[in-house]
Amino acid sequence: MAKDRVVVVGGGTGGTLAANLLARRGVRVTLVDSTGWHTYQPNYLYLPFTDRVPTGGGPLFSRRVNGLLDGRVETVVGEVTGIDHRAGRVQVQKGGSLPYDWLVLAPGTAYYPDEIQGYREAAHHFYSQEAALCLREALASFRGGDVVVGVTTIPYKCPPAPLEFTLMLDAHLRRLGLREKTRIHFLSPLPRAFTIEQVSEMVAPIMEKRGIEIHTFFNTESVDPGARVVRSLEGDEVPYDLLVLIPPHGGVPAVRNSGLGDRSGWIPTDRHLLKVLGHERLYALGDATDLPVSKSGVAAHFQAEAVAGNILAEMAGRTPAHAYTGRVLCFAETGLGRATIISFDYQHPPRPPFPNRVLHWAKLAFNVLYWYTVPQGRVPLRGVAELEERRGSVGEEARVGH
Ligand SMILES: Cc1cc2nc3c(=O)[nH]c(=O)nc-3n(C[C@H](O)[C@H](O)[C@H](O)COP(=O)(O)OP(=O)(O)OC[C@H]3O[C@@H](n4cnc5c(N)ncnc54)[C@H](O)[C@@H]3O)c2cc1C
Repeated sequence: MAKDRVVVVGGGTGGTLAANLLARRGVRVTLVDSTGWHTYQPNYLYLPFTDRVPTGGGPLFSRRVNGLLDGRVETVVGEVTGIDHRAGRVQVQKGGSLPYDWLVLAPGTAYYPDEIQGYREAAHHFYSQEAALCLREALASFRGGDVVVGVTTIPYKCPPAPLEFTLMLDAHLRRLGLREKTRIHFLSPLPRAFTIEQVSEMVAPIMEKRGIEIHTFFNTESVDPGARVVRSLEGDEVPYDLLVLIPPHGGVPAVRNSGLGDRSGWIPTDRHLLKVLGHERLYALGDATDLPVSKSGVAAHFQAEAVAGNILAEMAGRTPAHAYTGRVLCFAETGLGRATIISFDYQHPPRPPFPNRVLHWAKLAFNVLYWYTVPQGRVPLRGVAELEERRGSVGEEARVGH
């Protein structure tokens, strides 16, 4: 087994864990990452509201990926530009080509802002360090008016993040005394505020109570920076003074160019075994797949466990049987020092408890604990999720005047 080589493309949440789990079982693993940094993206959510931006050597909220990897994993820093699965080789920019026996694809997503006319000139977002810092500056000079927060295309990563941002924005503007002078609009392409009905039913009344206007069936077509309006395919338009739109997402160029992706570049993946459909010895996980679950770090984590188990089974000559169950478990901020938790799998829809302070502190704790647990293969706070689900709707927020 030791001479079989697994190449993992992507050193983010899913790829790092898959590499660690395989290396610990004596598999020869090479992980290729284009930047060499592992970034904890959930912290971008807080950046626009932060008084002081943390400083450090590299990108924010990031550590060198080789510092998170088992010492036996070989790390290559370079962008994979092509995948020739028939020949069993990946092409690395300026690094020649790497042979493999098994390939794990975990390169995450890419953003395609040019799919929306006017996006680049006018829209902000918080899905990258650069964009979140730019939004932070725009928010610092905001003195009131119309703020529009919108979901553009589906799927996008961390589905609750736009709602979290909107509710945190509401709280932020209240703190600054600007809420009375501001109208907050939330644009959703769906008939409701959130993809999952049960979550929508919980969050929509909270948004309404806080005076946030939800515009449903709003499929963003274009932005007109001159007139300062955002327009939908359905023919509606909403004025803005500050515009925050989640950028259209798609598969990364390496996947698109290799012909392994669908029209949007997502990798068609068996929803349980995580094999790339139609290919042997090729697995995919995390945001890069077309799996019908939230594109989230926690899903990538559970998927990495299944992928590692299945590759080990195949190496031992057994049929892969480690099934990903569709498990997702996400804390979601609702502003004013509260959060809820969204926990579900393919069979069981979520029953998010009413937002409370315990879950807000649990989310903040998780943001710190991440570095010591997730890349190593331990998801903390599973117990908190179960406890909170049992508590059900406490209705704490209903008793709090805002
Ligand atoms: C604002 C925000 C908030 C979020 N909040 C949460 C949350 O609360 N909970 C949660 O579970 N998830 C959250 N997420 C989502 C989470 O960060 C991602 O779903 C998760 O990181 C996906 O893991 P991944 O391994 O699939 O991809 P990533 O972690 O994105 O890693 C992909 C890696 O592949 C590398 N790569 C890309 N292309 C190539 C290439 N061609 N060659 C080599 N390397 C390449 C990249 O450099 C990157 O290191 C949030 C995301 C954002 C943006």
